Amino acid sequence: MKEIRNDWTKSEIAQIYHTPLLELVFRAAEIHRKYQTPNEVQVCTLLSIKTGGCPEDCAYCPQAARYHTDVTVHKLMEVDEVIESAKKAKEAGSTRFCMGAAWREVKDNADFDKVLEMVKHINKLDMEVCCTLGMLTEEQAQKLKDAGLYAYNHNLDTSENHYSNIITTRTYQHRLETLKHIRNSGISVCSGGIIGLGESEEDRIDMLYTLATLPEHPESVPVNALVPVEGTPLENQPLVDTFDMVRMIATARILMPKSMVRLSAGRVRMSMEAQALCFMAGANSIFAGDKLLTTPNPEYNEDKKMFDILGLTARKPFKEELNITVNAK
Ligand code: SF4
Repeated sequence: MKEIRNDWTKSEIAQIYHTPLLELVFRAAEIHRKYQTPNEVQVCTLLSIKTGGCPEDCAYCPQAARYHTDVTVHKLMEVDEVIESAKKAKEAGSTRFCMGAAWREVKDNADFDKVLEMVKHINKLDMEVCCTLGMLTEEQAQKLKDAGLYAYNHNLDTSENHYSNIITTRTYQHRLETLKHIRNSGISVCSGGIIGLGESEEDRIDMLYTLATLPEHPESVPVNALVPVEGTPLENQPLVDTFDMVRMIATARILMPKSMVRLSAGRVRMSMEAQALCFMAGANSIFAGDKLLTTPNPEYNEDKKMFDILGLTARKPFKEELNITVNAK
């Protein structure tokens, strides 16, 4: 049966999702070995370049201005400071540097010009540069591409049905439109979601369905577990079970064999054994560094130890392009 498909049905996905766990992990690991380099994990760093004060109402987010959280609002960082952080991330072994700004959408103003500057400089460091800046138009996506942006992150967060329970200041359609603009501009698409937002299993399946039936699969699919933050509407949500993360990762791996599946937020609470199971199930990308925007993440040293114990190696930057060149010969 063809394995790279964009015509999955919800019932097929539900069937995969509900496979007994070890069988599911085995299937995902087989696909993983066929389409990805086993033991290779992409190491990314995420920096919050503009923190807090966001006008949106994402119920999980401590950066929304309307919630009373410990996050300190910080205007857009200076270009030099960001370049310094990127250099440090590179020295510590990251090959992708992602910059996040707590904006509803990109505006054509001096701040956007500053971000374009950042992109240009970091691109010269031979790192994959990624941004997550909210909604954007196709023209803005093109400007980012021209500045050297490699990837853009724009998560679907949850299913279309559950979306309005989590966010009311924009719609699912807005999300999909931005994804289209990124794709049309030739930037690598990074889009996934969060589990633990009070969604049902059907919602999880629906979200995977939307991702796996996009005209082209996102090149990166982050799978996040909610990190409940005091002061947000979801502060009392129960913690996500590790096996639910494994199930999501394995299903994503089977549905989108060529994508990088990123074990993202929530990793800080996972034991090394749990993370190993996620890698077995097809995760092959992580965020390194002690902070994920504003929430905690494992330290570089802990990850280094894990890589040594599990025999993992860091994926080189721009590998997708290298593959394309090699295949084209
Ligand atoms: S997730 Fe992004 S858009 Fe939503 S409130 Fe937080 S910073 Fe704003």
